[in-house]
Amino acid sequence: MKLSYWEYKTWLTDIDFTIVGSGIVGLNCALRLRERFPKAKILILEKGFLPQGASTKNAGFACFGSISEVVADLGSHSEQEVIDLVAQRWKGIGLLRKKLGDQSIDFQVNGGHELFLDSADALYLDCAERLPEINKLLQSVYGADAFHLRPNTFGFHKVKEKYITNSFEGQLHTGKMMNGLLRLVQAAGVLQLNSITVEDFSGKASGVHVKTDRFEFVTRKLFIATNGFAAHLLNEEVQPARAQVLITEPIADLHIKGTFHFDEGYYYFRNIDNRILFGGGRNLDLKGEETDRFGCTPRIQERLEMLLKEVILPETPHKVAQRWSGIMGTGPQKKPIVKPVSDHVYCGLRLGGMGIAIGSAVGAELADLTE
Ligand SMILES: Cc1cc2nc3c(=O)[nH]c(=O)nc-3n(C[C@H](O)[C@H](O)[C@H](O)COP(=O)(O)OP(=O)(O)OC[C@H]3O[C@@H](n4cnc5c(N)ncnc54)[C@H](O)[C@@H]3O)c2cc1C
Repeated sequence: MKLSYWEYKTWLTDIDFTIVGSGIVGLNCALRLRERFPKAKILILEKGFLPQGASTKNAGFACFGSISEVVADLGSHSEQEVIDLVAQRWKGIGLLRKKLGDQSIDFQVNGGHELFLDSADALYLDCAERLPEINKLLQSVYGADAFHLRPNTFGFHKVKEKYITNSFEGQLHTGKMMNGLLRLVQAAGVLQLNSITVEDFSGKASGVHVKTDRFEFVTRKLFIATNGFAAHLLNEEVQPARAQVLITEPIADLHIKGTFHFDEGYYYFRNIDNRILFGGGRNLDLKGEETDRFGCTPRIQERLEMLLKEVILPETPHKVAQRWSGIMGTGPQKKPIVKPVSDHVYCGLRLGGMGIAIGSAVGAELADLTE
């Protein structure tokens, strides 16, 4: 289909900034660019009919790092680096809450609980023993002791009698968060075109020539926020990592409240609308899940169902209502990649499993790379 003069003139001419991807990073990048350049013409191109990567698929944990994660990170990072990682997430959630308001995203602090399977003796003992040390280390972030041993009041089976809870961790409604960001972007006068895949780009003296599956155009600057799909456009150290999830039908008198994880974070669950949302199991097939194709596999879904029945809801009849997957971007290091790629082209990638906490700041940092 040939585009009309009006279509080119209105949407695809004199573009100052183009952002590829409307996940949490792309949207925050657009908002920050608008703040800095009130008159600029800003365009977002998104391949899905909705944002279609991780930002509308995730579990909605507002988390800062469980005790076993902090302990593991201390094995590979300096103390200061670990403090900085946690502080970045803490600050990021603060930014998100300020931007959207707690009510509009159903933000609640019900604690983040790490469960230890009966078989995880060594990990449990190590974490419990190091609890005072970790609390002391992170005082400068939280201003109080974050981690506490809590009895198994929710009646989970096959786990140690105590959880280790981070009492500052919260949960939010992922859909409301993304809808809120999309509305802010629209109100800021940013143009958004969905169902457009950017296929290639090349530098020009005055900007960047962009080729999509529907049209080509020139933009002054290009920002790539495609996270787990980065390999289609860039050669950076980001691997796709698919994550599968299920959600139950509503459960009468569901008493479980909060965010939970176990098996070193490979499994996670929470309450939402009287249901349990449960995800994980990538470690059952790490190679197979290193893909940017959406999909649910019997092997992982069956394990999720088994753990749901045996560990999380052993006494409660339940039915699975829905299953889905999302694509994350991971890599050898936890630190996201935010950097110029070439003249006029920048990227903000590799958010791992912490995009809710760090996505706002990464998006703003990406926008700040341009003059
Ligand atoms: C199941 C699951 C559970 C998770 N749970 C949590 C959690 O509880 N807490 C937490 O903090 N994080 C969680 N995460 C991680 C978090 O969702 C991500 O870190 C975050 O959403 C990444 O945001 P992003 O904007 O970088 O990427 P994305 O949200 O993936 O956005 C990238 C966008 O780019 C688009 N795109 C890609 N290629 C192109 C192209 N060529 N042309 C046009 N558009 C393109 C995609 O369609 C996509 O919309 C979870 C992730 C998953 C999958």
